[in-house]
Formats: sequence, C-alpha cells, structure tokens
Amino acid sequence: MDYSVKELKNILGSDPDELVGVVSELGEKNFRAKQLFGWLSKGVTDFDQMNNIPKSFREKLKERYCIDIPSVIYDQQSRTDGTRKCLFEFRDGSRVESVFMKYSYGNSICISSQVGCRMGCSFCASTRKGLDRSLTAGEIFAQVLAMRNLTGEDINHIVIMGIGEPFDNYENVSKFLQLIHQPEGYNLSYRNITVSTCGLIPGIQRFGNEFPQVNLAVSLHAPNQEIRQKSMPVSRKYGYDELMNACREYTKKTGRRITFEYALIDGLNDSRENALELARHLHGWQTHVNLIPLNKVEGTGYETSHRKSVRRFKETLEEKHIAVTVRRTLGADIDAACGQLRLR
Ligand code: SAH
Repeated sequence: MDYSVKELKNILGSDPDELVGVVSELGEKNFRAKQLFGWLSKGVTDFDQMNNIPKSFREKLKERYCIDIPSVIYDQQSRTDGTRKCLFEFRDGSRVESVFMKYSYGNSICISSQVGCRMGCSFCASTRKGLDRSLTAGEIFAQVLAMRNLTGEDINHIVIMGIGEPFDNYENVSKFLQLIHQPEGYNLSYRNITVSTCGLIPGIQRFGNEFPQVNLAVSLHAPNQEIRQKSMPVSRKYGYDELMNACREYTKKTGRRITFEYALIDGLNDSRENALELARHLHGWQTHVNLIPLNKVEGTGYETSHRKSVRRFKETLEEKHIAVTVRRTLGADIDAACGQLRLR
C-alpha cells in the first residue's frame, strides 16, 4: 500500500462531540475542540489562521485533515439588485451554485443540498442531468462560509432552495441545521432558516418532529393530482391528497404555517378555476402561498404566465382569504432565479 498520498478528511462538518474525539485522539485537551469549532464556524480556510491553537497541534491537524471551503469558479453580480450567484467547487471537483440576496430584513443565501437532483420536475434546470451525489453537512455549511468570506457581509437568513432535494439528503441536511445553530459557532436561529421540499412525505413527517422551528416550504405548483403529475414525477409516488394530509398533520403538530410555492405556468396551472380549486384545499388552514411567475428554462416547452393571469390568480386567492404573495424575482439577469441553477 502506498502511504505517501494520504487522504485528508474534511474536518468542516464535524460537530462539537466529534471534535472532542479528534482532539483527544491527537493527545490534546478537550477545550481545544471548542476553539476548533469556533474557528471552523468563522470560515477559516487554513489551520494556521487559528492563532490560539499551538503550532504543534496545527501541524498534527494538517497531516490528517483539510478544511473544504470551496473555491469560486465564477462569481456573477446582478446589475440591478445586488444578487450574487457563485459557482463553487469542492476538492473532488463537484460544483454547486449558491445565491446571495439582499432584502430589507437582511442578507440571505440560497444554498444547494445536492450536486444535481433526481426529482425530475420538468420545469426546472437543476434536475436535467440527474443526481451526481449528495453534499455532506460540511459542504452545505461551507457554501454559507465561502459566500460570507467573498462578500464580507453577514448572512443571517438561509434558504435551502438551491440545487437538490433536501429530503433526499435528510441526514446531511439535518446535521447541517444543527451545526449552524450551535451557540458556540455560527449561532443562527432556526427561525431564520427555510427548507423547501418537492413533497417527500416521510421527510416532511420527520422534519416536523425534529425541527419544528425551522420554516418549511412545499413546492406544490398545482391545484390537483392530474396537473401536478404532468410536471412533477414525485407526485406519482406521493399523491396530492396524501401530501396535503401530511402537510395538515405537520401544521397540527408544530403549529407552524407552511409556505406553498406555486410556479405559475402559462396555460398549465394559472387559470381562475385552478386558483379556486387551490383555495378550496387551503380553506380554513393557516398557510401562505408564494406565487412564482415561472422563470423560463429553454427547452422545457413551458412559458411564464402573463402578468394578467398572475394578478388574477393572486386576486382570486385573496378573494377566498388565502394569504398570498408574489415572489420578487431576484437575479434573473444572471440566471440566478428559481429553477435556473445548473443551467449552464
Ligand atoms: N427540491 C426543492 C428545493 C429546490 S427548488 C423543492 O423542490 O422545493 C426551489 C424552488 O424553485 C422550488 O419551489 C421549485 O419548484 C422552484 N422552481 C424550479 N424551477 C423553477 C422555474 N423554472 N421557475 C420558477 N420556480 C422554479
């Protein structure tokens, strides 16, 4: 066996307990784990930046571990709204995109949970080439840290709505949520995080039990099974009524309001009848509907709803007392809008 090329293990993504294991294995005192965790959560890219850790210990760490903060392959800035889309590359060459956005309430990042996606929604660019692999908790975290290093700005809101289906990578997403929430680290409130799913019911159930304070968004995009099936293959496994029941259960259990994302596609799901049918499902239930005029992806055959249809859809829901907003599209000039990631 050749020992000259040693695999370095990514230390980013280790939780405080695992770090206690790391330091004790290297013959160091337990309190070093806390220091290590603090530094890693700050986004250091090199062990030598950890200036309260003795050099001898840093050398031992370097022999075995790396800190996989991805490099920036490209960094596009919107001319209109301060949105910034980055293509990041991890050590194994895997690439994902993350999007930085400025809102009145603070800075937000949209991060990816997988390299590609296997859910197959026909309007979305991110799923076109299928799934390469899931990201580790450390790699999910690293997107936030890399973006903070790049922009020099605080990031206090996170949406897991980039490339990938978070509940198809539940374990790693779950570990990431716990890591970024640690008071001794990044210390982000669960309330400032949103996870978006295409409707994997077992994930929704588990998430409701384990992370009731994290916001949940469900990509619905249809008022019934027939229409949903046309664009979202996942609905063949988890049907419409079953999904709505799971969502109602979630609300009952957590007391939290679900956001339903609804991409408006011309002639497919944007009629007044479609809005009325959706309103019937949501009647008497505390929810929020987020309408997203479809961002066009070449070759899908789908067109964005006309302005008038968007307005009609919104007004119909309002007439039925359903809470609804139309999502402001950020970063469309750099293909950073929903469904446009992994386009090129
Ligand atoms: N897999 C997760 C999260 C990633 S997608 C999910 O499905 O929720 C983030 C959101 O963008 C989802 O609501 C998705 O359905 C939506 N989306 C995908 N393609 C889009 C497009 N072309 N226009 C508008 N929204 C799109």
